[in-house]
Amino acid sequence: MIHFAIIITMLFMEPAQPQITYHVRMEKPATHYFNIEMQIEKVPDDIIQIKTVVWTPGSYLVREYAKNIDAVIAKDKNGNNLLVKKIDKNTWEVACNKKDFSVYYNYYAFEESVRTSYLDDKHASIIPASLFMYLPKYDVSSTIHYHPYAGWEQISTSLEMINNDKWIRTAPNKDILFDSPVEIGNHVIINFTVAGVEHELAMYGEGNYNLEKIKNDFTKIIEEQKSMWEEHPCKRYVIFVQNSNKGGGGLEHLNSTSLITQRFNYEPENNYRGFISLFSHEYFHLWNVKRLRPEPLGPFNYDAENYTTSLWIAEGFTAYYDDLFIRRTQLMTPNDYLTVVEGNINATTNRAGDFIQSVAEASFDAWIKYYRPNENSPNAQVDYYTKGATLAMILDLEILNNSKGEYRLDDVMRYMYNEYYKKLNRAYSEAEMKTAIEKFAGKDMTLFYTDHVHGTKPIDYKKYFSYAGLNISDANVGNKDIDLGATISATNTITAVRGNSSAENAGLNVNDEVIAINGFRFTNNLNTLLIGKKEGDTIEVTVSRNGMLQNFTISLEYNKKVNYQLTLNSDATVEQKELYKKWMKAESFN
Ligand SMILES: [Zn+2]
Repeated sequence: MIHFAIIITMLFMEPAQPQITYHVRMEKPATHYFNIEMQIEKVPDDIIQIKTVVWTPGSYLVREYAKNIDAVIAKDKNGNNLLVKKIDKNTWEVACNKKDFSVYYNYYAFEESVRTSYLDDKHASIIPASLFMYLPKYDVSSTIHYHPYAGWEQISTSLEMINNDKWIRTAPNKDILFDSPVEIGNHVIINFTVAGVEHELAMYGEGNYNLEKIKNDFTKIIEEQKSMWEEHPCKRYVIFVQNSNKGGGGLEHLNSTSLITQRFNYEPENNYRGFISLFSHEYFHLWNVKRLRPEPLGPFNYDAENYTTSLWIAEGFTAYYDDLFIRRTQLMTPNDYLTVVEGNINATTNRAGDFIQSVAEASFDAWIKYYRPNENSPNAQVDYYTKGATLAMILDLEILNNSKGEYRLDDVMRYMYNEYYKKLNRAYSEAEMKTAIEKFAGKDMTLFYTDHVHGTKPIDYKKYFSYAGLNISDANVGNKDIDLGATISATNTITAVRGNSSAENAGLNVNDEVIAINGFRFTNNLNTLLIGKKEGDTIEVTVSRNGMLQNFTISLEYNKKVNYQLTLNSDATVEQKELYKKWMKAESFN
């Protein structure tokens, strides 16, 4: 019997796989250096490659995390140095000769964002893709020992504990390791269960927040989102909130999200709504993009750009649903929701770049354009968040209208989730998403894709809003406000020039310092200096450009931007009213 068992074991024995144990130390947090030790055991190779990741999924920019590593040292178990050779920007080769060894490196972490790790004398925020090296040849589980700075008592992460020790965690593979941020310090932790899933809110930093209110509002959003998707794939979910003096943003992860918000942004209500909308956005991503995902966003190539034409779905649809869920949970009135919609359609119509670049192109080029904006970006590039959200909205209205209220975009998303994430467990192609939209819209959507996904044709808002009994009008028609088309900062410097505006046509540039208008000293008093001016009048603008005074003659124009307003059509049919109510989960049409 024993003999037989040994033979069976040998037959099924897997090829040798290394074992990885990381130790994360933070002995001098004020220097912003993490001290990392990566122990590698049972290596079957003489020479092995070790890499850093170049980007963090969800943020489509090659960030070159290797730039934050000072030096890489390798030692065997006896403390002897091994030969380490760097072969490209993020790859090292270690001559280990099949022996167990450790790699040591110090990682500088002083950029406060949801895409970068951060360490100071108050806390550690770890974005693992930036911090951990990996073995490209082997995708193995790893154990991570976090060694907190003296006096730091809290750790939050979605990774599972080992031996009931909260400082030791395990990751089954590198994808999950990279996708599981960690917060260490003395932050506030609240645990609550919603939709059958344990949630942990890890709140770092002072702010004017009300934890009970946040917990209650998050609960409503989570329940509402789960009811749309009809299942919650997580066992446990961690919400990291970092309260900061400036900046903000969020990043989705498989079983958690990292949010940064301004510490005094929880009041008044309008600002607070921005915060819960950010949460709603990142939470929705746990289904849309973390699991239901476009090609090739998973499995990821951690070594280079991952090109997709579908960020207008991954991000744009999520941007549509984030506010829609604030509405569906009744945390926003239907009227306030219409104001949000007006804001989106005005932003997208007034951005010149939205008629130059398609959302598919913008998705593809996010790596070199959206994430590397300059002063000309609004003139040349579409914002695939706002435009994508607008396209999601018109698809939702189109499907609701065509199916007589039987289906909506929710059904497309749920169908795609079941087919491609659950059944096939693979990313979907652009054509597969189009087919699913057609299935529920009950019509061919080729023209929609040609005009609005791969093209930049203006959207026929009147048609789509009429499905929901809404009228659209432009409140800017007939307005007599002068618009130079230049944005001038508080220090009198031009920071943006709109394409085809009077400022651009006259030759004004970004970085010009405005000195005078019509010979009068400019002190950020544009409105005063333009009193009584009409379209066609000219003004003389004196600027300092690169230290030299120059004059430009500007022919003035009235403001040509749209200011769309939505109003309920008093003659709306019963069907239109029903569609409106279904669209935004409203009790009534008023
Ligand atoms: Zn997003």
